[in-house]
Amino acid sequence: MDVHCTTCGEPWDTYHLRHEAIYETDLSHVEAKAWTGLSPETRLLPRYREKFRAVGFEFGGSVLNVVRCPACPKDARPDTDKASLKAGIVEILGNDEDAIAGAMEDFGI
Ligand SMILES: [Zn+2]
Repeated sequence: MDVHCTTCGEPWDTYHLRHEAIYETDLSHVEAKAWTGLSPETRLLPRYREKFRAVGFEFGGSVLNVVRCPACPKDARPDTDKASLKAGIVEILGNDEDAIAGAMEDFGI
């Protein structure tokens, strides 16, 4: 399943976001591997958000809520309607990443 960047619309595979994108950061292989086993909230602690930001990713309340991505044009801004809709989906579905991915795909966001 794909979700889309709120800012540029680039599609991102949900498996990639949950299991592979972390290896693009400068975390060690061991630490990146450990990250994939953390809870959804722990995966977005400030330390990890910082690592992701360094490689171009910014997330909302879930790693499936891509607010900015490496494909974003430098000055592009997030689409506010999409941002609200995505934030609402994450808030309602909480830590159920499969449900979040499904809902975002249904809305094409
Ligand atoms: Zn983007």
